[in-house]
Amino acid sequence: MALQTGEIDSLKSELNEINSSFEHSSAENILSWAGNRFAHGLVITSSFQDCVLIDVAQKALGEARIVFLDTGFHFPETIAYMRRIEKHYDIKVEVVNSGLPDDVSPCGSSNCCQVRKVLPLLNVLKTATAWVTGIKRVDTPERVDAPIVAYDEAKNVVKINPLAAWTDEDVAAYEEKLNLPRHPLTFVGYKSIGCAPTTRPTQEGESPREGRWPGMNKTECGLHI
Ligand code: SF4
Repeated sequence: MALQTGEIDSLKSELNEINSSFEHSSAENILSWAGNRFAHGLVITSSFQDCVLIDVAQKALGEARIVFLDTGFHFPETIAYMRRIEKHYDIKVEVVNSGLPDDVSPCGSSNCCQVRKVLPLLNVLKTATAWVTGIKRVDTPERVDAPIVAYDEAKNVVKINPLAAWTDEDVAAYEEKLNLPRHPLTFVGYKSIGCAPTTRPTQEGESPREGRWPGMNKTECGLHI
């Protein structure tokens, strides 16, 4: 299923062209294109901080492969929310984990994100041609130039970020308009939700990502860089 060397150059120029035309397209239109273009090669990852990407994917694609990377350190509320979203949309999420016990490369150790998130993702992507993510340019300084669609050289997939141009306010407005189920921790100050030991609620005036890896001089887990 992986992209073959011979098709990558023409794919890159196709994506360059389409990327700018997508700048003002709806996320639903972007995912409809992705579904037609990559069909069963498409995989969507979600951290289940919210369900906006799932909602858009349901509308644009109907059935889709949705993966949750379970580090073993998520909040129980995140797991419960994922199960609630499965029921809400009548979908089955593929839960992928590293298989490592908690005391091997535990949270906070230097290679934990790599072995519990990045390597399991790379395994998933070996069976995919296109990867859909929920990242937004406003999330972190590293994401500020995130394209809507581009070939990801390191992972050998087409990476599709249909929400790249959205703001946090856009996400909130979409949830509000459609009355989407919310992650329970968002009601008690958690604006960006990752693993429990390295996520805290944020205060008024702090950016959502300031609640991630507090005191660790880290803003990304490595999935998107
Ligand atoms: S946030 Fe913590 S537990 Fe989660 S993958 Fe990274 S280091 Fe591991």
